[in-house]
Amino acid sequence: MGNYKFANIVINRPIKGPFTYSIPESIKDDLDVGSVVEVSFGNKIVIGYVIGLSDKCDIENIKPINSIIDKNLRLVPDILELTKWISDYYYSSWGEAISAAVPGVLKKSVSGKRSRKEKHEEDAAEFEFIDGSDTHLTPNEEQQDALDFIMSSMDAKSHKVFLLHGVTGSGKTEVYLQSIAHALKLGLSSIILVPEISLTPQTVARFKSRFKDKIAILHSRLLGSKRASEWHRISSGEAQIVIGARSAIFAPVRNLGLIVVDEEHETSYKQEDAPRYNARDVAIKRAEISKAIVILGSATPSLESFYAAKNGKFILIELSERIDSRLLPAVDIVDMREEMTRAKKIPIFSQKLREWIEKDISEKKQVILFLNRRGFSTFINCRKCGYVIKCKRCSVSLTYHFDKKKLTCHHCNFNMEPPEICPECNEAYLKYWGLGTEKVESELNRFFPQASIARMDTDSTHKRGSHDKVLLKFKNGHIDIIIGTQMIAKGLDFPKVTLVGVISADTALNLPDFRAAERTFNLLTQVAGRAGRSDLGGRVIIQSYTPQHYSIQAAKTHDYNTFYDKEISLRKELFLPPFCHMVSLTIRGRKEERVFKVSDDLKASLEEEIKSKDIDILGPAPAPISKMKGMYRWNIFLRAKAAEDITSILKKALNRSKSSGIIITVDVDPS
Ligand code: ADP
Ligand code: ZN
Repeated sequence: MGNYKFANIVINRPIKGPFTYSIPESIKDDLDVGSVVEVSFGNKIVIGYVIGLSDKCDIENIKPINSIIDKNLRLVPDILELTKWISDYYYSSWGEAISAAVPGVLKKSVSGKRSRKEKHEEDAAEFEFIDGSDTHLTPNEEQQDALDFIMSSMDAKSHKVFLLHGVTGSGKTEVYLQSIAHALKLGLSSIILVPEISLTPQTVARFKSRFKDKIAILHSRLLGSKRASEWHRISSGEAQIVIGARSAIFAPVRNLGLIVVDEEHETSYKQEDAPRYNARDVAIKRAEISKAIVILGSATPSLESFYAAKNGKFILIELSERIDSRLLPAVDIVDMREEMTRAKKIPIFSQKLREWIEKDISEKKQVILFLNRRGFSTFINCRKCGYVIKCKRCSVSLTYHFDKKKLTCHHCNFNMEPPEICPECNEAYLKYWGLGTEKVESELNRFFPQASIARMDTDSTHKRGSHDKVLLKFKNGHIDIIIGTQMIAKGLDFPKVTLVGVISADTALNLPDFRAAERTFNLLTQVAGRAGRSDLGGRVIIQSYTPQHYSIQAAKTHDYNTFYDKEISLRKELFLPPFCHMVSLTIRGRKEERVFKVSDDLKASLEEEIKSKDIDILGPAPAPISKMKGMYRWNIFLRAKAAEDITSILKKALNRSKSSGIIITVDVDPS
C-alpha cells in the first residue's frame, strides 16, 4: 500500500458518510481499501469499512483509526461495488449495506470468544440426510438443450440471466448440478441460493454428495468461529461452491462464474431490515458486475421474472415434463360452503378428505396436511358483548396455544393466561374460534386414534434438530400423518406420501396484499408437489370457501400459464408491478397524532418535489397491522414507471422529514 495518510470510512449506522480518519503508523502496512476497522464516532466505538484512501485532507482535528479488526478479513472490490449499488437502490447507508454483507463474521472477531451456548450448539451432532447420487445423470433432451445454452454462455464469459421454468421433478436441480460442474471445470466458482437451508435438507444433501468438500454451507445457525472459518475457506478459494440462504449472495468467492437462485419466487429472499434487499435482484446485480451467469429456477416463477423472460430481458428455458413422465397428482377442490350446509357447523375436514385419509393410512401410505396458521384457536371473543381479546401492543387478536395453555401474540410474542371471564363485561361467555395447526392435530387424534400423528410448525420444531428428527421418523414410516405450516411446503420428497390435504386455501387469499393471488397459487402448487412422487400415485384435496377463484382453479390443473395470463392482465390494468416500480414507506411512532402529522407532511413534501413528473402517491393510510409493538404505523406508496423517477425526489423529501420519535422505513419492491 502506498503512502496514504487518511482513510474514507463508512459505518454501520443510517448515516451517509463517508467520514475521514487518519491512519496511525502502526497499522499502515495492514490497511487497505476493504479493511474492517474500529473507529470512534461521537462518543461510541463503531465498526467502519474503508472505502477509499487519500494523502490529503482539508479538515482539521482528524481522529485516528483505533484498530484493524481482522487483518485477514478484507472486502473485495466486487462486494464494495455491489453494496454501493444496494445502498443507492434500497435507500440505506453504504455502511449498513456492507454490514448486511458480512453478517456474523465480525461478531466473533469483535468479542474474541464464544459463548457457552454457542459452543454447545456447534458441538451438537448435526443430523443430515445422506441422499442423492454422486455422479452425473445422463441429461434428457430438454435438460441437454438447457445445459448447452448455459454452458456456452459460461464459456463466452458473458453475463446472462436464465429463467428455468419447470414443475417439481422436471430435473431443474440436475441442471444446476451439471452447470456448477462445468463452472468448476473452467475454474469458476458458484453460489447457490436456497430459500432456507434447514427447510431443504434433501436439496442440500444432493449438492453435498455431488461436490463433497469443495462445498461450503452457510447456515443461518452457523455461529461465530464456524461461520468465520467457512468464510475463510471460501475467500481462500478452497471451497469453490457456496450454498446458503439470502446472505450467501455476499460470499467472498473468487472468480464467480455462476449464481443459482432456486425457488426464485420465494419471499424469504427479501430481507426485512435495512437494507431491505431482495437476494434475487442482488444476485443479478452481482453477476452483472462479475460477468457471471444467473439461473433462476422455479415451478411458479414470480410475475416479475416471467414477465422479464417474455420480454427478452431474461432467457426462458422450459422443462415441460417430469423426468419419469409421471403424471402430476390429481387435484380435487372441495367447496366448504356446501360442507358447512351439510354438516350444520364449520367442519375442519370435509367428508372427502376424511375418507381419503382413512383409506390411505389403512393401506400404510402417508398423508401430509397443510394449514398456514399456528396455534389452537386464532380468535377469542365474548358472545355477550362482542369484545375481542387483542394484544395491547399490536392491533391483532391473540392466538390460544394449547401446549402452553397461553394466549400469544404472533407479532411481539406477548403472552398471558387465558381469562375465564370477559375482561370487558365480566361474563363467562368467551368463545374460541379460528383454526390453527394445534387444533387440527387434536382433531386428527380424535378422528384417527389408530394413526401416528406429528405436527411441524415453529412451535413444535423450536429445538435444534427436532425438525430433522421428525422428517427422519416420517421417512422411516413411523409417522402416518404430518400436519404443518409452510415449513412443510418446500422441497420434501417422500415416495410414500400419496395424499396431501390443504385445510384452508383461503388463508393467504384474504390478505390485503396485491400478491395474495400469486402467493396462493404458489403455495398450493408447492404443497401439491409433495404428493405422488412414486408409482403409488397421488392425490391432492384442497378445501376452500372461494373455490372458483382463478388462483385455486389454476392450481387444480397445475397450469402456470393460465394463471400468469390472468394475473398479468390484472396487474397491467391496476398499474401494479411489474408494470410499475413501487416503493412503500412506513411511518412509525408511539404517538398516533405525530405519526399522522409526519405522514401528512411527508406526502406534502413529496407532492412539492414531484411537480410535473409521472409519479403516483397513494396514502397516507393506516398499515394493515396499524399498531405493532406499541408503535402506530402508517403507509405511503409511491408508483412510477422506473426506479430512477422516484430516487432523487424521495431522498430530498426524506431529508426534510427527519422528526424525533418517528421512524420512517423505505421498502423498495415490497413483497
Ligand atoms: P426438480 O429440481 O425440477 O424438482 P430434480 O432435478 O430433483 O427435479 O429431478 C427429479 C428426480 O429425477 C430426481 O430424483 C433426480 O435424481 C431425477 N433425475 C433428474 N434428471 C435425471 C436424468 N437426466 N436421468 C435420470 N434421473 C434424473
Ligand atoms: Zn403483540
